[in-house]
Amino acid sequence: MLPRGKLDIGWSDIAFAIRVCLTPGSARAAAAQLEERWGPDQEAVATLSVRSGFDLLLRALALPPGSEVLVSAVTIRDMVRIIEHHRLVPVPVDLDVESLAIRQSALDRAWSRKARMILVAHLFGSRMPMEAVAAFAQRRGLLLVEDCAQAFTGLKDRGDSRSDVVLFSFGPIKTHTALGGGVTVVRDGRLRARMRELHRSYPVAPRSWFLSRVLKSALVMGLLRPSGMDALAVVSRWMGTNHDELVTSSLRGFPGPDFFERIRQHPPFPLLALLDRRLRRFRHERISDRAAAGELANRLHQHIERPGRRAKGHTHWVFPVSSRTPERLIRYLWDRGFDATRGASSLGAVGPAASRPEVVPREALKLMEGLVYLPFFRGVTAGELQELASAVAKFERSRPVDTGGRGDRQEDSRVLREAHRRV
Ligand SMILES: *Cc1c(COP(=O)(O)O)cnc(C)c1O
Repeated sequence: MLPRGKLDIGWSDIAFAIRVCLTPGSARAAAAQLEERWGPDQEAVATLSVRSGFDLLLRALALPPGSEVLVSAVTIRDMVRIIEHHRLVPVPVDLDVESLAIRQSALDRAWSRKARMILVAHLFGSRMPMEAVAAFAQRRGLLLVEDCAQAFTGLKDRGDSRSDVVLFSFGPIKTHTALGGGVTVVRDGRLRARMRELHRSYPVAPRSWFLSRVLKSALVMGLLRPSGMDALAVVSRWMGTNHDELVTSSLRGFPGPDFFERIRQHPPFPLLALLDRRLRRFRHERISDRAAAGELANRLHQHIERPGRRAKGHTHWVFPVSSRTPERLIRYLWDRGFDATRGASSLGAVGPAASRPEVVPREALKLMEGLVYLPFFRGVTAGELQELASAVAKFERSRPVDTGGRGDRQEDSRVLREAHRRV
């Protein structure tokens, strides 16, 4: 089975990570060094994850409860959870699905006098143009937070110069991963100083936690190849589950009820040493090769609906398509040896806020209903992409439009309803 993706890291990095887990070193000093490397202007704060950095930001800001945070309407669920935890109200801003950008009209609809911040996430490796959003934030006096977790393009990537805060993630499934870690760029010196002060009070995450994450990731790397996937399919049948659930759950970042305790930790020394090594040895081909494969796949899939088809400067972190019957498409592809999935990341549509029920992100909700990630990674061959595209095209052509497949359509709707509940 062609795996859904690969971790963007090499075996020599894994060996290095295990070694530094056993080497003495100071986490605080390593963080300072990394922040220096990020830019001599000292705007970066190295955190355990993007979620840690965003939570730290909200703690430092201490906005009045009930303040509204405008959120581009598709993001990972934990970001919404963090906003709500700070007793703030996330208000969705709908997206244009073809460009994955925010329209002016959606900004106007979402805004109210209670708005204090806007959080914008670039999706799937694309980068939405920020002009309109930045102008809006300035006009309305909103803090502009730009989430680049899915859209890292390299060492020169500083995010938009008009953003107040820019978030980069080096979590296990992200581009140029360090199996964890985030960089939060904060442009305002006073806000940054407050964040640093709070961050100093965080306990350092245990090395043993990081070592176990490294070992788990190594196992996943071994499985994310055709023979590994085949073995996993057999084992998961024994266990009464399926390979999809096993892979997705093993890559989840901070499972369990003590989420906030887990994210409110300082990154440990070995994580920072690995991230520093990855940045020092940054190789742009890792991203440009993947982007080229994405452009090829784009041409091969030109007849199927695809979110972000018209997005500019796309580096194709993942390769999603839209289907009216996503669950059936996935099973069809599994049967033909392609590990398609709906759960590659924990993305969800941001539902309407209870206090603002009129702001419904229709396009975003529809996007998430039909989303299927096709297997895609740097190193996928043109032949594999071609076979996959033929299989998808065949399925979409053969799919009954109105009659037949009723049970499956019900299955699809059930899955969708559950997805909404999760959001
Ligand atoms: C992965 C991701 C995050 C979270 O990053 P972590 O470093 O794992 O906390 C936030 N936002 C988006 C859009 C993401 O894809």
